Amino acid sequence: MELKKCIRCGCFFTTEDNLCPNCQKRDDNDKKYLKSFIETNGAPSSVQELSFQSGLSLYDINRYLKESEFSGIKKSISMNSNQAAHLDDQLSRMNKKENL
Ligand SMILES: [Zn+2]
Repeated sequence: MELKKCIRCGCFFTTEDNLCPNCQKRDDNDKKYLKSFIETNGAPSSVQELSFQSGLSLYDINRYLKESEFSGIKKSISMNSNQAAHLDDQLSRMNKKENL
């Protein structure tokens, strides 16, 4: 049997997965939590913000966002970040006009 290193906690275990059985449970809970969190609060404008608001680590969130079940959430975040960048741009232009 091949020994594998868990990508979440770093412990060694012997299954075909990338996660040890303990972390698999933690991942399941986190994913459920993350989905309900976004349903309640809406998607933030960045993954950093999502990590900060939800209390989940950036590393774990990035891992979940790579999975197909989170592709919708990933899209919403990138859409929001585009809008936020656009708003910043507009605001800075408005500020410049005021300064002239
Ligand atoms: Zn683990």
